[in-house]
Amino acid sequence: MPIPFLDLKAQYAAIKPEIDAAMQQVVDNTAFAGGPFVKAFEQEFARFCNTQHCIGVNSGTAALELLLRAYGIGAGDEVITVANSFFASAEAISLAGAIPVLVDCREDDALMDTDALHAAVTPRTKAIIPVHLYGQCADMDPIMSIAAAHNLMVIEDACQAHGARYNGVMAGSIGHSAAFSFYPGKNLGAYGEGGAVTTNDAVIADHVRMLREHGSAQKYIHTVVGRNDRMDGIQGAVLSVKLHYLEAWNTRRRAIAQRYRELLADVPAVRFMTQHAGRDHVYHLCVIRVPDRDRVQSELRSKGIDTMIHYPVPIHLQKAYAGRWSPGDFPVAEALSAGILSLPMYAELTDAQIDDVCAALRSVVG
Ligand SMILES: *Cc1c(COP(=O)(O)O)cnc(C)c1O
Repeated sequence: MPIPFLDLKAQYAAIKPEIDAAMQQVVDNTAFAGGPFVKAFEQEFARFCNTQHCIGVNSGTAALELLLRAYGIGAGDEVITVANSFFASAEAISLAGAIPVLVDCREDDALMDTDALHAAVTPRTKAIIPVHLYGQCADMDPIMSIAAAHNLMVIEDACQAHGARYNGVMAGSIGHSAAFSFYPGKNLGAYGEGGAVTTNDAVIADHVRMLREHGSAQKYIHTVVGRNDRMDGIQGAVLSVKLHYLEAWNTRRRAIAQRYRELLADVPAVRFMTQHAGRDHVYHLCVIRVPDRDRVQSELRSKGIDTMIHYPVPIHLQKAYAGRWSPGDFPVAEALSAGILSLPMYAELTDAQIDDVCAALRSVVG
C-alpha cells in the first residue's frame, strides 16, 4: 500500500459526523461570510492560544499583511524574516508595501539565526517576523530582547505551529502579535482557506478587524482603504470542531516523530533537525537531511512512499525577487534546501506505516 505524505481523507473519516453537522448548521443559518460561527471560533482560538484577541481572516498571508498594516508599517520600512520559510513570510511584507530583509537560518534546526538577525537591524527596521518553522518555536527570548533594544514589533509567523510552546508559553502569545494559517494541510486545517491573528493588543486587534472588512468598523462607513479578508462561516464552524482534537493530534505527531527518530537512530546518513528542550514541537513537518536527496526521494517514490521538500527554493532565490538578492547570500538556507526531505506526517499515520517508511529509507540511503 502506498504511503501518502498527507492523508486528509483519513482525518475526515475519523470525524465525519461532527464536521458534516457543523457545515450543515452554517448552511441552515446561511451564515456564510464572517458571522456567529467565526466569532465563536475566534473566542475558542484566543482561549487556546492564551491571548485576549483572535481575528479570523481568510489566509495566513492576510493575517501577516493586515498585522503589518495595522502597525502602520509600509513604504520605506524594513521588516526582517528568514530566507528559509514558505514564500508568504516575505510576500506579506511586500504586500504591505514594506521592504523584506532576510536573514539566514542555523544548520542544525533550520530556525532563524539570531546573530544574523542582530546584524540585520538598521534604523529603518520596524518589525521582525520570526517563523516557527516545521512546528518548533524560534528562539523567542533573544528575539524579544533584540526587539526591545531597538523598539521593534515582533509578529510571530505561527502558520506551522498551532499549539507549540516556548518555555510553556503558547505560540501566538509570545510576541506582540501572531499570524496563523488554517490552510487544509496545516496542523489545524480548514475546509478551504483560512487564517487568524492573535494578540493581547486591543488597538491592533480593532485595527485588523477593520482592515479585514474594507476598512470599516460600522457597515458602509469606511475609515481607511482595507481589504475583504473575512473568514468564511463554514471555516469557522469546521475549525471549532477540529480545535477540540488539536492537542491529541499534536501529541500523536510528536509520537510519530519520536518513532522515526528511534528507528533511524542507527542510520548515520539520516540526520534529524535539533529538537530543543523547553519547546513543545508540534511537528507540522518531520524534516530530515540525507546525502543525494533527489535520488533518495525518487527511490522512495518508486517504493510508494511520498515525501516533500520544504522548501526547494529559498525565498531569496525566488524569481519574484529577482535582482534583490544573489545566490550565496544565505548559504545555510541554500545548503539546507539541497539536502532536506520531509517524511510522511499526519496524526492518522500508523506505526506499521512509519516502520515501512523507515525500512524503505534505510534501504535507499545505502
Ligand atoms: C502556510 C504558511 C503561510 C501562509 O499561509 P496561507 O494560509 O497559505 O496564506 C505563511 N507562513 C508559513 C510559515 C506558512 O507555512
